[in-house]
Order: sequence, then structure tokens, then C-alpha cells
Amino acid sequence: MLNIGCHLSLSKGYEAMGEDALSINANTFQFFTRNPRGGTARDIEPADANALAALMEHNRFAPILAHASYTTNLCSANEQTRAFAQNIMADDLQRLATLPCTLYNFHPGSHTGQGVETGITQIADALNRVITPELDITVLLETMAGKGSEVGRTFEELREIIDRTECEDKLGVCLDTCHVHDAGYDIVDDLDGVLTQFDKVIGLHRLKAIHLNDSMNPLGSRKDRHARIGEGHIGMEAIARVINHPALRHLPFFLETPNELEGYGEEIALLRGLYR
Ligand code: FE
Ligand code: FE
Ligand code: ZN
Repeated sequence: MLNIGCHLSLSKGYEAMGEDALSINANTFQFFTRNPRGGTARDIEPADANALAALMEHNRFAPILAHASYTTNLCSANEQTRAFAQNIMADDLQRLATLPCTLYNFHPGSHTGQGVETGITQIADALNRVITPELDITVLLETMAGKGSEVGRTFEELREIIDRTECEDKLGVCLDTCHVHDAGYDIVDDLDGVLTQFDKVIGLHRLKAIHLNDSMNPLGSRKDRHARIGEGHIGMEAIARVINHPALRHLPFFLETPNELEGYGEEIALLRGLYR
């Protein structure tokens, strides 16, 4: 069975997201741990968390994915910005321990002119502070498109971050199809080659989730603008090869396409139909 869901809003609570997922025939979902800009997080009511856990178990959900606020930056040139991002992340990880959620995805960061090497060092240092041995959570570095000064455009950069982190058994990667395509990895005409490279540099055992998006821009554009499935430069056939690839087909897939719930439902139906 294809494990697929989409990005949902936490505004109505945790169980409500599970119900939204069920309503569109999804068996997983992604959510922001708090307002995308990184404000205060709402309290987690134990009854709500338990209700989600029961719903997930009853409906055999695949692992769900928590996404960190994307404006928090662990490698900003501004020290206060870095400290803020680190505090938010530490708080997120502690809070997630009370939810039926074991995957936490974040954008490595933007070095804002400091250079990639400094960025990598600051990200790894921050991870070493926030990931504690008792946490039962895998922290996923998301592959980035490389717009602006983003760190994590290449597999080598992600590998370097992982190498410099002490709790590396708690680190994984989330591959975003729009981002890797915009970063210059040709998943349309050479998916096998890209995955071979991923395996050589990072190791496929680290790959824990896929963000499934089409791209509004051509290969290597470094833009990061998501398109609906089949409506961008990646295209339906390449997306079908991604969900069916032997190295990927067991993973949870998360749509982050420009859609409301109904549109997500249509994409999920389409993709379930393409899954062999
Ligand atoms: Fe993301
Ligand atoms: Fe993404
Ligand atoms: Zn994106």
C-alpha cells in the first residue's frame, strides 16, 4: 500500500488532523509544530494526543511527520536568530515526545553570507545541543533547492552535517522532489543515478520520508516553487517512477502542493491509482 498524506493545519488540534487525513484517504500527514514563523506553540492536550494515537493505530497509519517552522535558522549570521532557532527546536523535540510522532523534519538553514562551511558547523553544533540521547525521535534534514544561501542543496553538505553530529543514529533525511530537482538533480531522466549518488554520499538507510511535489521551474533553477502533481517540470510520469521505485516505495510520501484539502484528496486518489 502507498503511504501517502499531505500537509495539514494544526488549527483544530491533533485528532482533527487525523480525521482530515482519513477524509481524503490518506494514511499519514505532515504538520507544522507551531506557526511557520516560529511563535509560541499551542499546548498539547493529552486527551487529544491519545485520540490521535488511537485513530492512527486503528487505521494503520504510516509514521506522521512534524515540520519545524521554516523561518527558524540555525546558521544565521545573527547570533540571536541562531539562539532563537535552537530554543524553538529544543522545545519542539521535548513536546513531540508527548505525541504519536517520531519524525521531525527541518530546513538545515541559510548561512546568510557566512559561507557553507560555517553554516554546516553551526548547524551541527546546534544539533549536538538539542538532540539528547533519551529522545525517541529521528530528526530529518530536508534536501534544499539552494535558493539564496541555503545549506543542504547537495547531498555532500547534508553528509557533512551528519558526520559532525554526535547523535548521528538519530539523524535522517527527507528528500523533497521539487527541491532536489531545482537543486540540479535530474530525477526526471535519471532517478536511478540520483538515488545511487544519494546512497553513495549519504546512504539510503538514512532516507526516512519524501516530500512529493512537482516544480514550477526547470532543473537546476534553485527556485523552490512547488507545483501540483503533473503540472510542473517534473511531470506525472517521473512522479509515478518516484512512488514506485524499489528504494522509495515503502517510505511515507507527503504532498506539499498548492492545494486545499479537496485538491489533496484528488492527488492522493491519482497517486494511489499509479501505485503498482
Ligand atoms: Fe520543508
Ligand atoms: Fe518540503
Ligand atoms: Zn519547498
